[in-house]
Amino acid sequence: MKMVDNNKIEQIRIKARENHVPILQDASLEFIEIMLELAKPKTILEVGTAVGYSALCFSRHLQDGGKIVTMELNEEMVKIARENIKDNGMEDVIEVVHGDAYEYMKTLDEKFDVVFIDAAKGQYMKYLEEAMRLTHSGSVIIADNVLFKGRVLGDYNEHKHRTAVNRLREYLKTIKEDERLESSLVDIGDGIAVSVVK
Ligand code: SAH
Ligand code: MG
Repeated sequence: MKMVDNNKIEQIRIKARENHVPILQDASLEFIEIMLELAKPKTILEVGTAVGYSALCFSRHLQDGGKIVTMELNEEMVKIARENIKDNGMEDVIEVVHGDAYEYMKTLDEKFDVVFIDAAKGQYMKYLEEAMRLTHSGSVIIADNVLFKGRVLGDYNEHKHRTAVNRLREYLKTIKEDERLESSLVDIGDGIAVSVVK
């Protein structure tokens, strides 16, 4: 099993934080890695690569021969992510797709063991719709930033955040009510929603 270099990952983390790249918070990553260790996925689909930090961390929990497909819209991020992944010798394990995640998801036709949603908050409902199609019974769908710095539970929000807040609320309501899912909202970091496909 190929392994990433933890010292290199640490350097990626430090640099991303310095540059205000919104990578996973430490507590969130720790929690997600515990779930991945339990789930032992062979395939992970990630929405929002940024510099490849979470994908590299997640690769520590893949089954042998497993793979991660991660999607990123921003060209500069894609470039940095690919460099980081190559520097860790993981280019055969982690594929970075440059483009709009929702548009790319629509073109996919395979089942993933884990889907991790960590991109445009206003689009989580669309990502969920595609995630349902791209998973199987026992798959886990994890979404980060679902509490959006407390805004999702708060009753006043600045105009510019209202659409994202309303869509995140809709996401949380949907995963609770959809009978195909067993979901839990966890108050770690910026809020993590975990759904298991029944
Ligand atoms: N998962 C990363 C952090 C991702 S930050 C980590 O923890 O290391 C969110 C990323 O989503 C940003 O880099 C942003 O450019 C990207 N993004 C935003 N909208 C997107 C879209 N529609 N499709 C793909 N990526 C998108
Ligand atoms: Mg996030």
